[in-house]
Order: sequence, then structure tokens, then C-alpha cells
Amino acid sequence: MQSRGSVRVKAAVLYEIGKPLVIEEIELDAPRAGEVRVRLAASGVCRSDWHMLQGVHPPPLPIVLGHEGAGWIEAVGPGVEHVRPGDAVVLTWLPHCGRCAQCRAGRPTQCGEVAWSDLGLMRDGTTRLHRGELRIHHNSASTFAEQTVVPAETAIPLDPSIDVREAALLGCAVMTGVGAVLRSAQVAPGRSVAVIGCGGVGLSALQAARIAGAAPIIALDVVRAKLELARQMGATHSVDASQPDLLERVRGIAPGGADYVFEALGDAATLELAVQLTARGGKTVIVGLAEPDTRLPIDPLSLAFEERSLIGCFYGSCVPNRDYPELFALCRSRRLQLGDLVGATCELEAINDAFARMARGEGARTIIVYPGA
Ligand SMILES: [Zn+2]
Ligand SMILES: [Zn+2]
Repeated sequence: MQSRGSVRVKAAVLYEIGKPLVIEEIELDAPRAGEVRVRLAASGVCRSDWHMLQGVHPPPLPIVLGHEGAGWIEAVGPGVEHVRPGDAVVLTWLPHCGRCAQCRAGRPTQCGEVAWSDLGLMRDGTTRLHRGELRIHHNSASTFAEQTVVPAETAIPLDPSIDVREAALLGCAVMTGVGAVLRSAQVAPGRSVAVIGCGGVGLSALQAARIAGAAPIIALDVVRAKLELARQMGATHSVDASQPDLLERVRGIAPGGADYVFEALGDAATLELAVQLTARGGKTVIVGLAEPDTRLPIDPLSLAFEERSLIGCFYGSCVPNRDYPELFALCRSRRLQLGDLVGATCELEAINDAFARMARGEGARTIIVYPGA
């Protein structure tokens, strides 16, 4: 059944946890009030998608995953005025109401109005995605499809100087990594930084540490190629985290540990390592999303005596309307290198292979490039 205004789009649909995504044509309904339809140029393949399809953070099923995208406005619903068809946009996966106490306090990452999004629905409690009578859920941006419908406030007009395909990475990895450094932790010039995990988020955090004037900047990973990439993007030192003497090596570079340590994996062992690597008076910043039953042994006495803090960072503590223009300016001035974050490109049909490469820890970010981009 194809209702008025709906289009057929190729998408990667998750029907069952742990099973490959199914590439097929589904229907996408017209945008309703306060929504826009976007033709995607590209979508990043993020570890959070992997966690969902593996059931670590189980999504409602069936669902079109993907939350890191950029493209062009195809159609706008009633009441949408900030974008028009043809405009290039980057998608943030953070719907927010702009009116609740958290939004008004400048903390839209904690908006209290968006429970519908966690349920895979649009704001009115329905979906625009379906296959015949079968309702298919949204993953906020649902960028593993040729086109998507999203809440209008999540489509941010893109600076024309930025390649719309590379801009996809701004939607999750870059905003998260840069925001962790510049917003959540507010790294001060001349202070030491360590980043554990050099994927898209970690490499973005390293670039932000360089932009913030931090020194030294230490990258930790177990994959040699990622450490080399880290050095190109701003790390002054790299440490192979598979070596047993890594604590001593980091303390040899930053005596007493690093002032700011960012954990970008969400793994219990590396979270504990992050706390150990943090200097007195320093901040340990949890950026990676841990499995729900992960618990950490914390020494509260050292938090008090040594004035340490342990903070969480969700989506770089970003305020999209404030922070996207700042990311665009950093890209324009070439202080933020977007293209170097792209490890490989592929078509939507190869998405299951991209996840297999991610599971093996190979390469930097893969982006799916859509026809016509
Ligand atoms: Zn992501
Ligand atoms: Zn809100």
C-alpha cells in the first residue's frame, strides 16, 4: 500500500537481533508537521549501530538503523521554515523540544520530552517507515536508507564549503569527540590529555585536544594503524595499549598521569584504566557507551583526597544550534580534518561487510555513499 506523498526507498532493515541487515525497498511517508524528508548523501557506520544490532542496546524491531548522516532536503512538512527543498543539511540524532527545563538550561542532550524517539517513533507516536502494513521503526535519523524523515530541528543547514558526504561524520563521531573535549571537559591550554580508543570519536577528540592547545596529547589503542592516524591528527605521543607497561609509559610522558582522560570505548577494562591514567586534580571523561550491566570499582577516598572528577559525556554535551556552526568554522579553517576520518566508503549493499570489518577492529570510519552524492 502506497499512501499519498509516500516514496519507495532502498533501506537496510534490521528484523532480528544478531542477523544481517536486509537490503530492500520500503515505503517512506511524507513529512508531517514539524518534520522534513531528507535524501541522504552519506551515512557513517557507528559502533552504536553495531551495539544495537548485536542486542547490547536492543532497539524496537523492525528498524532502520544509522544515525550519522548528511544530505539534501527533499520536502518539508507544515510549519518548517528554517530549511527548504534543495538545502544541504547535516542530521543530528538528537531530537529535543527546546521548551523543557533541561532544554532551557542549555542541556538538550537530556531533554525530557523525547521518550517517543527511544521507542523508535516520531513525535506524534507513529512511524513514516513501513513495508505494506508492517510498521518499521526509526532510529532517530535512520540514515541506512536512501531517504529519511526526521524532526525538523535535527536537520541543520550545512556550511556550503563542506563536502556533504564527509559532513555525515559531523552528525555523531565528530560532535561527540570534539564536544567531549571542548564542552563536557572544557580542556584548558597547556594541560595533558589522553584518549583511549582511536576510532571516529577518539580521533575527533584528539583533534579537539590539539585545537584546545593541550600538551602532551597521548593516543592509546591496540591497533597500530589507528595510532599512526592519531599522530597525524594531533596526538603528540602514541602508546600501544596491548603492552603490559602502558601505565608507566603514559606516566613517563605525562608525569603523575594525564589531566584529562577520555574513554571512547565503553569497555569495563579501559574505563578502569582511564581512572588509573588520570592525574591528581584531573578529570576522567566517560564518552564510550558501556554495556548496561557494566560496573566500575571506584575509590571514593581518592576522588576526595586527590580532587579527581569522573564525568559522563553524552553526544559531546552539545547544543546543536550553537555547536554545529562552530564545527563548520573549524572545518573551514582546516583546523578540523574531516576527510582523514573516513577510512573507507561503500554502497548500502555492502553494509554487513562494513560491520564485519568494524567487529574485527579494522580501519577508521566507514561511510556509506548513496547514488547521486
Ligand atoms: Zn554514533
Ligand atoms: Zn526539551
